[in-house]
Amino acid sequence: MLGLMQDQPLLISMLINHAERHHADAEIISRRVEGDIHRSNWGEVAKRARQIANALGGENLAFGDRVATLAWNSYRHLELYFGISGSGHVLHTLNPRLHPDQLSWIVNHAEDQVLLFDMSFLPLVQAVHAKCPTVKKWIALCDAEALPADSGIPGLVAYEAWIGAQSTDYTWPQFDERSASSMCYTSGTTGNPKGVVYSHRSTLLHAWAAAAPDCLNMSSRDSILPVVPMFHANAWAIPYTAAAVGAKLVFPGGALDGKSVYDLIEQEGVTMAAGVPTVWQMMLGHMEANGLRFSTLKNTVIGGSACPPAMLNTFVDIYGVDVLHAWGMTEMSPLGTVCVLKGNQAGLDADAQRAVRLKQGRAVFGVDMKIVDPESGAELPWDGKTYGDLLVKGPWITQGYFKLDNSNLLVDGWFHTGDVATIDPDGFMQITDRSKDVIKSGGEWISSIDVENIAMAHPAVAMAACIGMPHPKWDERPIVVVVKKPGAEVSREDILAFFDDKTAKWQIPDDVVFVDAIPLGATGKMQKMALREQLKDYKLPGL
Ligand code: ADP
Repeated sequence: MLGLMQDQPLLISMLINHAERHHADAEIISRRVEGDIHRSNWGEVAKRARQIANALGGENLAFGDRVATLAWNSYRHLELYFGISGSGHVLHTLNPRLHPDQLSWIVNHAEDQVLLFDMSFLPLVQAVHAKCPTVKKWIALCDAEALPADSGIPGLVAYEAWIGAQSTDYTWPQFDERSASSMCYTSGTTGNPKGVVYSHRSTLLHAWAAAAPDCLNMSSRDSILPVVPMFHANAWAIPYTAAAVGAKLVFPGGALDGKSVYDLIEQEGVTMAAGVPTVWQMMLGHMEANGLRFSTLKNTVIGGSACPPAMLNTFVDIYGVDVLHAWGMTEMSPLGTVCVLKGNQAGLDADAQRAVRLKQGRAVFGVDMKIVDPESGAELPWDGKTYGDLLVKGPWITQGYFKLDNSNLLVDGWFHTGDVATIDPDGFMQITDRSKDVIKSGGEWISSIDVENIAMAHPAVAMAACIGMPHPKWDERPIVVVVKKPGAEVSREDILAFFDDKTAKWQIPDDVVFVDAIPLGATGKMQKMALREQLKDYKLPGL
């Protein structure tokens, strides 16, 4: 017997319809690449999304054709999220921080038909457009007056003119909820980038889950600043979930420096902000240097790489801002776990609670996870100590990459995350390392994250990366590469002494290397491959 409930496909257009009908006045604020602050709301976003759908209707595209964006977080990018997917096309968010060759490779691989870009990326588009033969139309996200006469890009049109000519009447089509809605390529730290293809169904389920109190806890009372870019794993679902709950959104555009982010939080009464640790590092540095405080911020979501303990302590103890430590991947839409204490942990003392809160957290409902032995594949115990390969499954986790042979991707329906983790008896997962970054010393493993966390707690250290160096006896030994805070004086010996009593002796790095900067990847994470390349002539002391 089948249920007798309405069989309505879960489509992204439901989100924008809901936001318009129930939260039309909720504000959408954007710092534009033009430099000014633009004020819009969900009602406007919905209207313009329908104009986008009408404009795409005139571009001779097929259902499922890819429409790419190369843009910072802004109201225009938000409208495109809904206009492109809602009309049955596939939103392909491109990462502008990629090398031009990698970018054109991705555009060709995805066979993007239309490409919309922020004017700040005009030089990048000028460099790649001739290598992107599938793109039939290039659209600059600007007013008609701002369009340069001699851009060199054939047929370039201004976005505002392109949608301005369109009617705001449009009825969103109904189709199979399993249809592709958007795609995002992984960063390609190993080999070519891989295309992850989300569906309408996966996006809706994920957005619903993200709103829950033990997940990102978003509501219509929030003013949310996604510093995490909309080209990085859908800005962690925030654009979709904000539409579902009717939250105010505040977009930083391309100004991600500490001062700009802090000023926007204060000016727009932001209650919740989300980003990778490197962004918060810059903002906290700016606040410390200028003696600033927050007046409205209640919590920050920190993910993408491990939240250093020193950062959590600063947010919570100095600024009274709660931290939600979250873990996920592009392949997971991206949310997998969020660290929120359980009811039975309320009685733990402050230190014990803090130790739990530093973990990556519990599985969000909809995600299942387990750790397995890398050799045998046997499931490992949840004792908080035993570490193994982390596997996940769920309706918003990928089962294949675009145009690749995916026959061996899943193991009995489980996806290999490439992370090594422990899970404690309460179900709190902690990432030990990415499997390729773990340091193998004398048959034992050293977590590069643990070493980095200790170094980052030193008051003179702005950033620290731990990598393994070849060693004839131990296979590998860790070293820590350090960027000092501006004006700070600290020696190699000071840093090494700082590790005493904080970790086992054999896990203390063999050396400290000071550098001016640690290479960051396109999503703001430390690039250890590039760092290893930079240090290729380095030798461990005594070798
Ligand atoms: P990529 O950086 O390869 O583009 P993602 O942005 O999808 O891919 O990053 C996913 C990876 O980032 C995870 O597999 C994990 O290694 C790392 N990661 C994400 N969040 C955290 C976290 N809170 N703590 C530690 N590592 C994290």
